[in-house]
Amino acid sequence: MPTVYLGLGANLGKRREMLKAALAQLAAHPAIRVRTVSALLETEPVGGQPGQPHYLNGAAAIETDLEPAALLAELKRIEHDLGRRQGPRWGPRRIDLDILLYGRLILETAELTIPHPRLRERRFVLEPLSRIAPDAIDPVTGLTVRELAARLDAAT
Ligand code: ADP
Ligand code: MG
Repeated sequence: MPTVYLGLGANLGKRREMLKAALAQLAAHPAIRVRTVSALLETEPVGGQPGQPHYLNGAAAIETDLEPAALLAELKRIEHDLGRRQGPRWGPRRIDLDILLYGRLILETAELTIPHPRLRERRFVLEPLSRIAPDAIDPVTGLTVRELAARLDAAT
């Protein structure tokens, strides 16, 4: 079973509770095993409207039998269940669940790009991910998460 890394974010309402609730739903899924959860880190919002509340972000390592599309459907179901409604892209949201890495899979469809297309440029993704999986490999660049984070630091 591949190890899959998920990104978790929330910037509205009770952010920590939202993330905990999302993790509980993931853990309760019969085809998902939650292995590791990072610390939850406070980050500045990137993009979108100015003055948005700060995000709380984390990353989780899971194992799952679900194919990528089925996993994405589950993540969307959990987002919806926790009250995320269709809003502006990059706008404030209660909960955002993303597939960051799915083993060494590279996939590009209309609904799903794996590794996550903005993984390499988002500090709020790389920071929590590097806490739990510094040696995980981005199959597109061949770089480890640690190297991606260092590269981003060097670039800014
Ligand atoms: P973001 O997560 O980039 O802030 P959204 O949560 O609004 O933005 O995602 C928009 C769409 O991105 C989702 O509906 C989903 O179909 C698509 N998507 C593409 N690749 C991924 C991925 N790796 N993980 C999650 N969603 C993805
Ligand atoms: Mg998302």
